[in-house]
Amino acid sequence: MPESHPMIGGDGTYSYAKNSYLQREGIKYAKGLIDETIAHKLDIKDLLSNSRSFKIADLGCSVGPNTFICMESVIQAVKHKFQSHGLTEQIPDFQVFFSDHTFNDFNTLFRSLPPERPYFAAGVPGSFHGRLFPESSVHFVHSSHALHWISQVPKEILDKSSPAWNKGRIYYTGAPDEVGKAYAIQFAKDVEIFLDARAKELVVGGMMVLILPGIRNGISHSCAVVNVMLDLLGSCLMDMCKEGLVSEAQVDSFNLPMYVPSPKEMIELVERNGSFKIERMELFDPVPGNEAQILRSGHAWKMHFRAGLEGVFSKHFASETIDELFDRFPNKAAEKLKATSTETTLLFIALKRK
Ligand code: SAH
Repeated sequence: MPESHPMIGGDGTYSYAKNSYLQREGIKYAKGLIDETIAHKLDIKDLLSNSRSFKIADLGCSVGPNTFICMESVIQAVKHKFQSHGLTEQIPDFQVFFSDHTFNDFNTLFRSLPPERPYFAAGVPGSFHGRLFPESSVHFVHSSHALHWISQVPKEILDKSSPAWNKGRIYYTGAPDEVGKAYAIQFAKDVEIFLDARAKELVVGGMMVLILPGIRNGISHSCAVVNVMLDLLGSCLMDMCKEGLVSEAQVDSFNLPMYVPSPKEMIELVERNGSFKIERMELFDPVPGNEAQILRSGHAWKMHFRAGLEGVFSKHFASETIDELFDRFPNKAAEKLKATSTETTLLFIALKRK
């Protein structure tokens, strides 16, 4: 049974619905890339030769509003393509499959569906590290800020006798190379399974857009601001451990199941799989320069992390520990941010099923 860590549901203070600003900035930037990809690379005629409806899946949709914004972007771009080819009469119906882990807050998702949406909506529960749809039944797959979640923490990270034992940390940044390698291997296994499943589900010529945190080729994982901040969250937990507020054994047995790949790693994985052509791949910073002020705020990082990570922490730690951890984090984060660059890089990948 793969691990699942949904974002905080509902619309409370720490909910994903209220704390997904940073992801939304990434999505807004990626809209231009999706528009261009669909305009130049999607072959609408061949794609719909056997179908009267265009089927889109959003994998790792969480709750709105981000997934709704993404789905409308894709649909607008496809409609625009039909119009610009003089095929307005042939614009198909659209069906959107909102897919996420079973424990995702699908109720909040469906309750907040835009009333005037240009598509038929359906929910598909299950892990994207496996099959979700019948063979050759989907035309376009979208997934943002989700594929960096690995299906499990690598076993050796928790093994005291292994050189990859991740003692005193909750993540691979700042850890011995063996730890980073174990994470990279798990990520590679998961992406292989992900690509195999999508290769079966997408029609030939169908496309897939993936947006996930990424790091530049050849730089240390500790250079990505998100990794620096995660490291810092870990150090707050170590402080609590030193003060006797949480046991060493509990901290040592906890690790975050996430991995931030480089473009080079992704290219290797796609090529190894062999079913997809890479139509476009680039790294971008969704909140460059001064607009990144929000990222200079320890509080903003706290809200961003808590909405996404509380689910993982709550399986391991008591709620008072989590409250204390996230209360300590903003001050330490603010100090660090004064001295750290806030570049946040996202990786955009557009693939076509061969
Ligand atoms: N796409 C939205 C939400 C991203 S939050 C956006 O860009 O804002 C990440 C989501 O990925 C979470 O809801 C989490 O449950 C989901 N997720 C992570 N791993 C998954 C998996 N293996 N299968 C399905 N969903 C997964």
